[in-house]
Amino acid sequence: MPFFSPGRRAVLGAFGASVVAGLSACSAGESTTPELPPGSASASPAGPAGNGAMAAAGEVPPSGTPAPTATPKPSKRIRRSFIPDYQLPPVVGGLAPVITKIPTQHPVVFLTIDDGNIKSPESVKLMAEYDYPASLFLTKDTIAENPAFFDAFKAQGSLVENHTVTHNINMVRQWGYQQQLADMVGMQEYALKQYGRRPTLFRPPGGAYSNVMRQAVADAGMKAIVTWEAKANAGKMDYQVGNSLRPGDIVLMHFRAEFAADLAAFRAAQLAAGLEVVLLEDFLGVA
Ligand SMILES: [Zn+2]
Repeated sequence: MPFFSPGRRAVLGAFGASVVAGLSACSAGESTTPELPPGSASASPAGPAGNGAMAAAGEVPPSGTPAPTATPKPSKRIRRSFIPDYQLPPVVGGLAPVITKIPTQHPVVFLTIDDGNIKSPESVKLMAEYDYPASLFLTKDTIAENPAFFDAFKAQGSLVENHTVTHNINMVRQWGYQQQLADMVGMQEYALKQYGRRPTLFRPPGGAYSNVMRQAVADAGMKAIVTWEAKANAGKMDYQVGNSLRPGDIVLMHFRAEFAADLAAFRAAQLAAGLEVVLLEDFLGVA
């Protein structure tokens, strides 16, 4: 079975209906109707294709076509889809796996946005304009005064994940299993009540983790700890390796005052690398 080949919309059942139909963004000239398996529940045709990688390749609308506007569209969930070439490791020995990047041949990059401190309408607008789905690792204590702010991102295709209730960056050092678990479960329950879905991914506050944390994450019902390979921070990109984005990178951002500048830095890097922003949960089959 070959890996992804550009333009091919193949169907592979291994990951089920949520991961079918090929990367749509760079298959100009093909039908815009993806092939879907019989009975697929995710029959949501490509919609606005991709999030800019195509534009970077020089695609222009036919003359006479109205220029696309930046107005956010009311959005159904647009599921990007893939021929899977990676499978999330299972919980082994009671320990959730830890992922920092995804070893994939697909030209994809994953955007994650943490905490939730600064809730600017501009961030909603930009994410819609760029058509970026993201994994939102939110902290209950940071969002509890206005949790509905994040509904707009959810409507655009992002998902809320678990970044604890209290954001204790020393939790690995200061807390034992029970206290870590309680801080995770509190966010699991809050996210379910507020956003209608139980998170499947956990990001440790500050990034530090341990086997005790891995055990608590698994016992809280989540599938993996997610760290990051690159950051958009203070209006620029910080790479742990090299000086550009690579396929499968997981990128960290925050809901900060610098959101627009950080997102601009990420977008420039994403377009330069020719990668499409896809939802990590879709790729992992844990949406
Ligand atoms: Zn954080």
